[in-house]
Amino acid sequence: MKPSTADGASGTASAGITVAIDGPAGVGKSTLAQALAAELNIPYINTGLMYRGLAARALQRGIDLDDTPALAREAAGFRFAVGGQPPGELLIDGRPPGPELTTAEVEEIVSRVSRHAAVREVLRRAQRDLRGRGCVMEGRDIGTEVLADADVKIFLMAPPAVRARRRARQRATGDPAGEPPISEALTLRDAQDAATNPLVPSKDAYTLETAGLSPQAVLRAALSLVRRRVGQTGRNGAT
Ligand code: C5P
Repeated sequence: MKPSTADGASGTASAGITVAIDGPAGVGKSTLAQALAAELNIPYINTGLMYRGLAARALQRGIDLDDTPALAREAAGFRFAVGGQPPGELLIDGRPPGPELTTAEVEEIVSRVSRHAAVREVLRRAQRDLRGRGCVMEGRDIGTEVLADADVKIFLMAPPAVRARRRARQRATGDPAGEPPISEALTLRDAQDAATNPLVPSKDAYTLETAGLSPQAVLRAALSLVRRRVGQTGRNGAT
């Protein structure tokens, strides 16, 4: 008999489940992924931070952004782990990623770092190693490449203007004049990223248009997808 899922998709009912969340910049991936992981009591892994960490390192060490072998070597030199407050988040070299990874300088070059196939190979391997016994992992290629066998795949979408507004609010610029540069930077990063990861959801992903939805409504929609999946597989903490 399948275990009851009457407790929803929380706690042990969701242990072992992997959720892939993909989508463009500023669409709300982190907000959803973090809340969903907390709700399911499984680790939250933000793969964008791994590319950002490498971009920050390249800036710090003056690494040429076209030097594939040097960037791949740096990528391989990081120690990635899941830790901190249970159920855990990404740690880079033993530390939680800090605000130095969300600077405009890092965002300006991160797409140039992430476009190298050799870099992606190193980081994708590290990401697969982190999946453990279930997690919520967010990025651009999680459902298509990194965790192609994820139990639930969610692809978030929202128009560029909505994403720019959300990002401005998130960064707490509080300055409406801050929006045009944010909007331009997002559009540029989208275009650069699309050349590396065409933002096309995998066939088995649920696409969620989030424009008119609150973060709570997006979380509810995602939870109901997970619940349905947990119910289908009868997955429990013993898997
Ligand atoms: O998700 P976030 O905006 O923090 O990602 C930062 C950058 O990392 C993206 O613009 C993209 O260049 C790269 N990235 C990627 N593949 C992922 C996650 C992020 O190429 N899975």
